[in-house]
Amino acid sequence: EVPAGSLVDLLDEAVQRFGPRPALDFFGATTTYEELGEQVARAAGALRQLGVQRGDRVALILPNCPQHVVAFYAALRLGAIVVEHNPLYTADELRYQLADHRPDVIVAWDKVAPLARQVAGRTEATVLAVGLPSALPRAQRWALRLPLPRVRKVRAAMTAPAPGIESWDRLVAQSAPLPADHPKPVAEDVAVLQYTGGTTGRPKAAILTHRNLRANAAQGRAWLPGFRDGEEVIYAVLPLFHAYGLTLCLTFALSTGATLVLFPRFDVDMVLDAVRRRAPTFLPAVPPIYERLATAARKRGVDLTSVRFAISGAMSLPASTAQLWESVSGGLLVEGYGMTESSPVALGNPVSENRRIGTVGVPFPSTEVLVVDRDDHSRAVAPGERGELLIRGPQVFAGYWERPAETADVVLPGGWIRTGDVVVMDEDGFFTVVDRIKELIITGGFNVYPTEVEEALRRVPGIADAAVVGLPSDQGGEDVEAAVVLEPGADFDEAAVRAACKERLAAYKVPRRIVVVEELPRSVIGKVLRRQVRDQLQQQQATGTA
Ligand code: ATP
Ligand code: MG
Repeated sequence: EVPAGSLVDLLDEAVQRFGPRPALDFFGATTTYEELGEQVARAAGALRQLGVQRGDRVALILPNCPQHVVAFYAALRLGAIVVEHNPLYTADELRYQLADHRPDVIVAWDKVAPLARQVAGRTEATVLAVGLPSALPRAQRWALRLPLPRVRKVRAAMTAPAPGIESWDRLVAQSAPLPADHPKPVAEDVAVLQYTGGTTGRPKAAILTHRNLRANAAQGRAWLPGFRDGEEVIYAVLPLFHAYGLTLCLTFALSTGATLVLFPRFDVDMVLDAVRRRAPTFLPAVPPIYERLATAARKRGVDLTSVRFAISGAMSLPASTAQLWESVSGGLLVEGYGMTESSPVALGNPVSENRRIGTVGVPFPSTEVLVVDRDDHSRAVAPGERGELLIRGPQVFAGYWERPAETADVVLPGGWIRTGDVVVMDEDGFFTVVDRIKELIITGGFNVYPTEVEEALRRVPGIADAAVVGLPSDQGGEDVEAAVVLEPGADFDEAAVRAACKERLAAYKVPRRIVVVEELPRSVIGKVLRRQVRDQLQQQQATGTA
């Protein structure tokens, strides 16, 4: 069931099978599979000229755009390793990651190329800039109206090289294609270093092989009933620099001959405008995106009934979001579960009336799971009992880059990995994610799962969102504390909120302190960063500003 070849073979197969079909759509400008193959060959030739070899790292610091896809496959073609970075990283974040993997070449959005040049200083990497007039909010709307030749001209004009930075587009245009007999990578080679979200600690890079990524795309394909090769339109509203978008948008598109519509960032208007041009059939996203798209589509009367597959992941899907999306699109919104370390999908609901709202579904094809005692991984717990989820399968990663201790902590004998998540399996084999082990709060000897408390808080009228964390307690252990965001115009009475919580929660779970904040800190993909909330609350407590 796991495809034998590398991602480069996947591209070659796609060019063969789907040649004249559009592979990419960027604001209406299309690239066919044939053209993509040619551009990758030329870009690989350019990178070869710069000295890139098998095993070298090529850093990409790019929003979703055609050059992102071309650079990705060009690096892989040479057997090099692609390392994806968020183009909105701060200097510190970028410096840390570049120093961690030491790239030979950096391909960066021109807005961040100077920063990349600066922070990569000592690594002596070549920096190549990609110009994107459409990556700015204003320019986005403007680019939508422009006829294409002008977009191209503007793009070239915007990539005028700065000191120490060369233009990617120019380099590729001037380069001869890589000879077809240049050795290709094999399935077991490393394809990508993917930094994990950093929700609980310093980001570390998961090593994903060609086989890992192809396996997960094939598993996803087997999961979706009625998915038609060569006919689907995938909307890449998720960033390709995150494991979720990388597999479910990019690798998935190439393995099924779909057209990938690229959005440089998530913007409701931009997405709804694109629906008229090329209607989506497959839309992988996260709950806040479904929420915003459905609300705006309803208001503007945009038809979303073309979407046959809507897959939510990365964080738990509120039932209200699923209902809203389903009433607007007329299709199902199903939840899956995964992590960077599993390339990323490990479980998913059936895409049918059998899906179970509130659960993350059942193991993916060819994926094995175990629920074990948190402290004794050799002891499986009974169905209905909470335990840590272990997973095993062809999509499971090859360890963390240059971090043997962290790898040993997660990779268990026999190919199993620890997810760090507490789950419970019901009698029909459907799994529910309870919480992350690292975020579990221990108060007065009791375990408190923050997600449960957050759900209770969100049900209190006037509270829009909540994050619950544990802070060191005077009595030893931790105190449960909460940061909440209010609905616009809502009043806040801490005692009343606590009383409302008491109706749903045992007394020891009710937050001892509830602080109102403007907004909650979130990761790139929209996950609440409880660690940052914890730091903020602790700081407020220390300075007495709460
Ligand atoms: P880090 O490991 O660096 O702290 P992270 O775990 O947030 O960051 P990712 O690999 O992007 O980085 O996220 C995987 C995690 O996301 C899972 O371990 C799980 O905690 C959470 N997750 C994924 N899907 C779901 C879901 N459907 N419901 C609840 N949680 C989910
Ligand atoms: Mg993680």
